[in-house]
Amino acid sequence: MSVIKRDVIVIGAGAAGLFCAAQAGARGRNVEVLDHAKKIGRKILMSGGGRCNFTNMYAEPDNFLSNNPHFCKSALSRYTQWDFIGLVASYGIAYHEKTLGQLFCDDSAKDIVNLLESECAKADVTITTRCEILSVEKVASGFVVNTSLGMYECKSLVIATGGLSMPKLGASPFGYQIAEKFGLPVLPTRAALVPFTLHEKDKSVLAELSGIAVDVAASCNNTSFKEAMLFTHRGLSGPSMLQVSSYWTPGDEVEINLMPTQSASELIEDARTNNPDAQLATCLGKVFPKRMVQSFIELNGWRNVPVKQLSHAECSEIADTLQEWKIKPNGTEGYRTAEVTLGGVDTDALSSKTMMAKDVDGLYFIGEVVDVTGWLGGFNFQWAWSSGWAAGQVA
Ligand SMILES: Cc1cc2nc3c(=O)[nH]c(=O)nc-3n(C[C@H](O)[C@H](O)[C@H](O)COP(=O)(O)OP(=O)(O)OC[C@H]3O[C@@H](n4cnc5c(N)ncnc54)[C@H](O)[C@@H]3O)c2cc1C
Repeated sequence: MSVIKRDVIVIGAGAAGLFCAAQAGARGRNVEVLDHAKKIGRKILMSGGGRCNFTNMYAEPDNFLSNNPHFCKSALSRYTQWDFIGLVASYGIAYHEKTLGQLFCDDSAKDIVNLLESECAKADVTITTRCEILSVEKVASGFVVNTSLGMYECKSLVIATGGLSMPKLGASPFGYQIAEKFGLPVLPTRAALVPFTLHEKDKSVLAELSGIAVDVAASCNNTSFKEAMLFTHRGLSGPSMLQVSSYWTPGDEVEINLMPTQSASELIEDARTNNPDAQLATCLGKVFPKRMVQSFIELNGWRNVPVKQLSHAECSEIADTLQEWKIKPNGTEGYRTAEVTLGGVDTDALSSKTMMAKDVDGLYFIGEVVDVTGWLGGFNFQWAWSSGWAAGQVA
């Protein structure tokens, strides 16, 4: 059987892999990207509700979780959000800031996939889909990659197979298995940026609120996010919940300030002074949707009586609950709906400048497979671009 020889093989035609391949190809390297899926960049196409939140104007290392929070600094500073924004602009792709620095395509996420495909085409990169990787071996000249489409030999091998979230989109544990095969430690993985599910007692009351969104400040393990929360028929979702899910471990409580810009006790005191005959539901209905007020009264056993009849203790309990609602999720929806995977290839085993394994010459790990996980808001794609760029300069 003939062997296809390449300078660089990139496994995974997602955000990081395609971007890295284009960089390496632009340096004159003979590059091929292999992917088992039918289509390239499937997560990009699904991302940002089909408009791809491709970066964040305020991206900085603090927006990333990792066992080593310093690891991402080098790559993020060498290829920044402004570099990628410049590239997007050079393709004439229209984009806008939705909120909090999050940049989305005006039109379609397909624009970003087209950009990556064009960059690869300009750099003479070959992209091969529907290719199963059967084995990877280290040899003196580099690596031998045996696939369903034939045998490859390469000097550099870049693993860009992402995390475990959304197996329907082609996610697999391949990257972690390769890391382990070559002796790199893999830190425990966990679904993140994922909706919470609730215990039956809470769910039976709150499921009725499915579809209601409120602005909150949600905190877990000393990290807080001020964004919207969405009640769903399974539990709690929306940006604030997805964000804190990355900091949550089973058994933890999530604290939710349901009135992050207003004082709940002032609201109640004001009603007691100016509208004492109004019922509690009417008073709270000034701030929250009616259905939500009814459910919270039921859930907490509050008396829905004229506010003047509430004792001081009752008023302060209501105010405290609204400002510090504590809920213990039952779990999360898991990898089926998670946007990302926490954990992964231990950064201690990689060079932060090149993403190459410290002990395996020519083997690189980039993107989500690495133990670097961004917040919601374009940070994960920025990590894919930055880490892909770093490896693409040397692979
Ligand atoms: C629904 C959804 C929406 C998202 N929205 C955003 C967003 O708007 N902004 C943002 O910053 N992040 C978003 N993310 C996260 C972002 O998509 C990922 O962090 C990013 O795609 C990771 O890039 P990657 O190249 O490392 O991996 P991926 O993009 O996941 O690419 C991995 C590639 O490897 C291939 N592969 C896997 N296993 C194998 C194997 N065994 N053999 C061969 N090929 C294999 C896959 O088919 C895939 O093409 C979203 C994620 C999801 C699931």
